[in-house]
Amino acid sequence: MQWAIKTPRLFDGTGRAVVPDALVVIDNTRIVAVGPASQIALPAGVTVLDAGQRTVMPGMIDAHVHLLWSGSATSGAESRHATAQQALLMGVQNAQRALQSGLTTVRDCGDRDYLSLALRDWINSGDLAGPRVLCSGPVITSTAGQLWWQSIECDRVDELQKAVRTLVKHEVDFVKLMGTGGNATPGSNPEAAQYDAAGFRAVADDAHRMGRKVAAHVHGVEGMRFAVDAGIDTLEHCPFRAHGGIAYDAGLVADIVARNLIVSLAMPATWYRLRAEEMREARTHPGHLWVDRYETIRRMHAAGVKLVVSSDQGSTGTQIDELPLLMEFLADQVQIPAEAVLHGVTGLAAEALGVEDRVGTITPGKLADLIVVDGDPLTDMSAMRRVHMVIKEGETLVRDGALLWPTPRLAALARR
Ligand SMILES: [Zn+2]
Repeated sequence: MQWAIKTPRLFDGTGRAVVPDALVVIDNTRIVAVGPASQIALPAGVTVLDAGQRTVMPGMIDAHVHLLWSGSATSGAESRHATAQQALLMGVQNAQRALQSGLTTVRDCGDRDYLSLALRDWINSGDLAGPRVLCSGPVITSTAGQLWWQSIECDRVDELQKAVRTLVKHEVDFVKLMGTGGNATPGSNPEAAQYDAAGFRAVADDAHRMGRKVAAHVHGVEGMRFAVDAGIDTLEHCPFRAHGGIAYDAGLVADIVARNLIVSLAMPATWYRLRAEEMREARTHPGHLWVDRYETIRRMHAAGVKLVVSSDQGSTGTQIDELPLLMEFLADQVQIPAEAVLHGVTGLAAEALGVEDRVGTITPGKLADLIVVDGDPLTDMSAMRRVHMVIKEGETLVRDGALLWPTPRLAALARR
């Protein structure tokens, strides 16, 4: 069945300028036509939904989330002590909140016991309303390394290869490597690499051989260098940590651009907006580094790095529906152009995940993942907090900001 949406303002996710007075035509699960309304001949009888003054854009993609974690001020400790049952229930709740906030695809970057894969498959079966989920499964880390308690601990190259192959056997969508220590794990060192160059290369080569991309958590400059040289597809976080501070490395950034690698900012609230009392509890990301990190983001953008805007949801103080707050911060405070911020959660994020052939842009042939937001995010990013409607694969799942229950698909099943 064909239908169409009419909008005064279409951002198509390719990074191109906005199309004024546009029409998007949807046939079943896919987009079949898009462009200025004056140039599209609609077949008779096609219903047109008028978005009024609202903006239409692709469903958002958060390239770095932890669906099983709450994102409260004590999220790390909570997740470490949660039972598997509690973690999975948190995942269900997060999946629904994600969808309601305009996320139609998320990449889960840190699982335990393959629970996120169960969530992914349940959503894909249509029985649970949620975003499309790409899963890393449990991450690979060194013994006692970042997030060791829910990860596969590996130290030698042969152990790393065994872990990659085991993850692929479990049908993960990509591989996540903890390339350096991190703030979530006392005793790990964010500035130091957890493997040498050969370790990074072993993971990248083996995953690529089996058709999987690799995401590497890298805080320190040393780990970033190993990840870049190994050709790791997405570099997560990248705050250039070294010698107790932040040390931007222009040569390293030139190599990121030359190798066409993607930086996924994965920047939780602890980097920019945590309240003082939460910060004391979290004891992470000392405030004196904040402004220096913003400068690294500006410089990477100016150098032509592909910057994906991802939230690291689940980390301290960062909840699943808060990606728009980061987008607003980047546009208003870091002065990254709004088009680039929006591209970082749509077309570019799809490229990071390797799903750009299916989603991320509003172009003919793509799956119809669209959102309708109140206002114009290109001039006022706070519009992204006001998601009015969410359509996933042609099915309207959120209307007037509320999750539809039962979903149209489940309602049809009940009528049979
Ligand atoms: Zn993370």
